[in-house]
Parts: sequence; structure tokens; C-alpha cells
Amino acid sequence: RFITMEGGEGAGKSTQLRLLAEALREDGLMVVTTREPGGSPGAEAIRALLVSGETERWDGVTEALLHFAARRDHLVRTVWPALERGHWVLCDRFADSTLAYQGFGHGLDPEVIASLYRVAVGHFAPDLTLVLDLPVEDGLKRAGSRGSAGGGGGAEDRYERMGLGFHQRLRQGFLGIAAANPMRCAVIDAAASPGKVHDDILATVRARLPV
Ligand code: C5P
Repeated sequence: RFITMEGGEGAGKSTQLRLLAEALREDGLMVVTTREPGGSPGAEAIRALLVSGETERWDGVTEALLHFAARRDHLVRTVWPALERGHWVLCDRFADSTLAYQGFGHGLDPEVIASLYRVAVGHFAPDLTLVLDLPVEDGLKRAGSRGSAGGGGGAEDRYERMGLGFHQRLRQGFLGIAAANPMRCAVIDAAASPGKVHDDILATVRARLPV
């Protein structure tokens, strides 16, 4: 089974991914957790090109090509082999993030993204995508406090430069993707406490993907 976790900044994806992995392992399942961009040595090298530095560094198509190059390497080296071994793979972000960020957020033609998806991913898709949704202001507040707590500050500056409108488009993008793919996607209210969000996620996974 391949489960992806999606959402904007500060939605709590990494925390929830870890809690879900722990719960599924307690059920006796073999679980691999991974993330995008990244998740394999080659894809992590591409991530370093993508997430560091300037937002304006790449034009939209180039940025999407890099995301899909990383995705292809991640699938070939990490995800597909793990699924072959019978593991459950939980991934922090996948192709919906490319559509939300590069498409809805930065205005790249969704047809370009769909074409790259066909080349790099083919007919493969997540069995379940959990869309962690919360008001933009709440997410940015969380991401901001995480940024200063981590001492980095770089990420925070980047989010602020993008502006509220960008994050509103992201949120609407993710909700639109979920509405267009109701069989694959479930929207989770991520504004609740981490414990409550985890309970919702676990109930959704057990209902949608019974073992
Ligand atoms: O998952 P996380 O929030 O750590 O994402 C890492 C960074 O990559 C974030 O700053 C996010 O905005 C950015 N990103 C992006 N386009 C994607 C996926 C992530 O700009 N397709």
C-alpha cells in the first residue's frame, strides 16, 4: 500500500506521518516512511537544488522537471522496491504537491504537470492520499514558530515572501485535487489537536484500506 500525506505549510504532515507509521507497525505491518522531494540519494541531491536558496532560481517548467526527476528516482530506488517487498510506504508529499505548488501556486499549466506525470510515474498512483487541511493563517503561524525554534529562519523568510495569496491558492488547490479524486483522497481537518488529527487519520486509513 502506498499512502501519501499532502498539505500546505505547518499542516503537521511529518508529525502525523510518524504517528501513523507507529500505529501501523503496532498492527504488525512493515512500514517505510519517506518524503518528497527526496527519499533516495539521487532525489535528495535534487532536493538540495530545489529547496535551498531562491524561489526565482528556476523557471516553472524546469522546476517541475526537477521535481519529477527526483520523483522518478525516488520511485525506482525506494518506493517500488519497498512495495515489492510487501511493505506499506508512507510518503510526506507526492505529485499532488507539484500540482498545488507549481500549478495552483506558481501558475504552471496543469497539462505540463500531467504530461510529466505520465512520463515519470506512468499509471502508478497512491492508494490513499491524506490532505491535511487548515486555515492558511494557522499553518503559517505553526511553520513560523517551527522556523524560529529551529534557528534557521530561511524557510520562514521564503514563506513570507510568497505572500498570503500564494498560500490561499495552495489550500484551494489541494482541496480541488481532493474533490476531483474522491476515491483516492481524504481531507483531514488538521486544525484540531495532534491527537485528534491522528485518530481521524487512523480511522480513515482503516476504513479505506482494510488489512
Ligand atoms: O514538506 P515540506 O513542507 O518540508 O516541504 C519542503 C519545501 O519544499 C517547502 O518549502 C515547500 O514549500 C517546498 N515545495 C515546493 N514544491 C513542491 C514541494 C515542496 O515548493 N512540489
